[in-house]
Amino acid sequence: MPGTSTTTTSAPPRSVPPGVAKGDRRDAPEGGSTYSDAGCSAPTDGVPERALGGRGVVLSGLPDTMPAAVYRRPGVVEVEQRPVPRPGPGEVLVEVDHCGICGSDVHLLLDGWAGRPGLVAGHEYTGSVAALGPGVDGWTTGDPVVGGPSPRCGRCRRCLEGKPSQCEQQGSIVDNSDGAFAGFVLARAASLVPRPPQLTSRQAALAEPLAVALHGITRSGVAPGDSVMVVGAGPIGALSIAALVARGIGPVVAVEPGGRRQQLARDLGAAEVLHPDDLQTFPAWEPERMAEGAVHVVLECSGRKSAMEAGFNQLRRGGTLALVGAGVDQPSFDPNRFILNELSVVGSFVYDDGGFGDALALLADPSFPTDLLIEAGDVALEGISEALVGLAEGRLAGKVMVAPRRAGGPR
Ligand SMILES: [Zn+2]
Ligand SMILES: [Zn+2]
Repeated sequence: MPGTSTTTTSAPPRSVPPGVAKGDRRDAPEGGSTYSDAGCSAPTDGVPERALGGRGVVLSGLPDTMPAAVYRRPGVVEVEQRPVPRPGPGEVLVEVDHCGICGSDVHLLLDGWAGRPGLVAGHEYTGSVAALGPGVDGWTTGDPVVGGPSPRCGRCRRCLEGKPSQCEQQGSIVDNSDGAFAGFVLARAASLVPRPPQLTSRQAALAEPLAVALHGITRSGVAPGDSVMVVGAGPIGALSIAALVARGIGPVVAVEPGGRRQQLARDLGAAEVLHPDDLQTFPAWEPERMAEGAVHVVLECSGRKSAMEAGFNQLRRGGTLALVGAGVDQPSFDPNRFILNELSVVGSFVYDDGGFGDALALLADPSFPTDLLIEAGDVALEGISEALVGLAEGRLAGKVMVAPRRAGGPR
């Protein structure tokens, strides 16, 4: 989830909208998880390799087991050995190089939204193709890949409009497979994206959250010449600031309570960094009074009710508040402020078709500050619990990269 700078650790466990697929878990409005607690979703497990037949079946040389970071209860993630899944038809087994910890992982694993002990989280991953299931074309073992969006129906109105996150059939397409905080992860062949050669696996693992940030910018309608405020400088907020600066949009004002994330926002090029307490809010009897420094567009990336409400109060006439960060507490907006100033509030959920391509292209731009956005040093699977707390408390400002093949123990 965007904006872990303001993640609360007291959120109650939430159930999950049915049909939220693996690729959407990070930013699902309520910490979406349809995870199965099955350690191995391999339908072919135990089947002699010859019997798989078809094109592209390469299963030799795989280990039997792999380490996986398994959710036990809120705040407790333990590493255990699990069977290496075997790819079924249309699937690819990926050996994981890096997997970023998403704000939604903090909600899932630390706040307990995951609900079901036994799941393995992690969706922001890179790796290399380790094995191909029957009928898979277009990939070769060893290919460097980036985990992409989950396939959707491809036939409904929203899919045909290029908005698969809004698939009207998504309740019927449920991805129960485990995530990439493990040695290997299964993916649909069609969901993988090639890793551009100029990007390291660490850099490319930013593609998914950057695609989320870029989509928020698109949904907000912000244009060059507009003033823009980014509320929450957690991973999605920080990526949003960097993307706005890269596109020459601004000035960008960042709002963030945490010192490290405030500094990151400055380093990324925010023209001004405010504390949330600095924001003016207005009572219902002053619907037309504008905040000092009111902006055309606010990107709300924290998911907090108070931040959504404060962000709404920072809009100029005709302005737009884009809700990028998801939370469970419902904001309230003054309808007269809404009406009299012709304000807009839009939601932004994951990304459209092409979102990964746009993100990878921006990451490959040498001027994009990838190194500022990623915490130095990889975290082993054993270090995930500690990193979750560091992210929730804002001690870790950048994206934390987990490297499952790194030797155990915290960094
Ligand atoms: Zn994510
Ligand atoms: Zn669809």
